[in-house]
Amino acid sequence: MIPISKPTIEEEEINAVLKVLRSGKLTQGKIVSELEQNFAKYCGTQHGATCINGTAALHTALYSIGINPEDEVITTPFTFAATANSILMMRALPVFVDIDPITFNIDPTKIEEAITKKTKAILVVNLYGQPAEFDEINSIAKKNNLIVIEDAAQSVGAEYKNKKSGNLADISCFSFYATKNIMCGEGGMITTNNKNYYEKTLSFRNHGQSNKLKYYYADIGYNYRMTDILASIALTQLKKIENFIKERQMIAQRYTKELKDIKGIITPITIIDRAHVFHQYTIRVTKDFKLKRDKLKNYLYKKGIQSNIYYPQPLYGFNHLKVGKKQKNYPITEIATRECLSLPIYSRLNTDKINYIINQIRNV
Ligand SMILES: *Cc1c(COP(=O)(O)O)cnc(C)c1O
Repeated sequence: MIPISKPTIEEEEINAVLKVLRSGKLTQGKIVSELEQNFAKYCGTQHGATCINGTAALHTALYSIGINPEDEVITTPFTFAATANSILMMRALPVFVDIDPITFNIDPTKIEEAITKKTKAILVVNLYGQPAEFDEINSIAKKNNLIVIEDAAQSVGAEYKNKKSGNLADISCFSFYATKNIMCGEGGMITTNNKNYYEKTLSFRNHGQSNKLKYYYADIGYNYRMTDILASIALTQLKKIENFIKERQMIAQRYTKELKDIKGIITPITIIDRAHVFHQYTIRVTKDFKLKRDKLKNYLYKKGIQSNIYYPQPLYGFNHLKVGKKQKNYPITEIATRECLSLPIYSRLNTDKINYIINQIRNV
């Protein structure tokens, strides 16, 4: 079976972990600091703070910007549940806005109609690895006095007008979950240029303790710290990131070249001012294709190819998130949930396998 994703674990990662184990210092320490510094530098931001996972990073970011109960946070319904769940964790209310049909990211032209007196922030997801329309989003935010958060879990290394993901909003959150473009099994990171947000982040992830005085607590907090063991893997991966991205982009290019002319298949489009890092390579299977989307998925499975649907349900369809359905309808989200299918993509996926996948789709 060709998996849809596969982490690249090589001698360097294994040796990095062994080195930490041999040091006997396993908790948050020097390696975590090194990862934070290198990652922030990579993104071009002043601060980087690790977290135990991407969901914790989102929760922490929402805390540090000062989200209060009953505040409204505008976001997309076409994303992983953690995006909207993190808003509920602050007892705030997610408000869903429909997406753009090309990028699958939040549609900036529909944001303003969702803003109310209670709106505090816009939580933007760079879905599949392509940044959203940040110039428009940031200017709407500025005009309405809102804070912008970037859910960059899928977009490490992506660019918008030559600026890196992680540096496109007031505060950004990453995930190092095993399937993400750089990973350490479970892990997360927050980047920001705002010193105040950064300091709140450090405290929140460490039981709400004062950053200066141990066992003094400014507020409630969590234990969201990362360990040096995990940081050593992420740090090693960060050194290889340019190579990882290039490989993903080349695979995407090859898929698009061979699939774009098939009737009923719409291949992904990278907007001209953006660098897409292809966390997912996602096609749309329309009614003009010979098989329905779900049938194509089963067909590929029988041929030994794993594909997947990100995401089969809009988030407002789930009971605990129904409160966030504020617009009359979400036509683009509905189409996307019906037509999207993601194909295998990971940095060491070889040409033979790519050709095999392409041929199976062409031969339907
Ligand atoms: C993976 C992911 C998250 C959550 O990250 P975890 O590390 O799994 O907690 C959040 N948002 C998006 C868009 C993701 O893809």
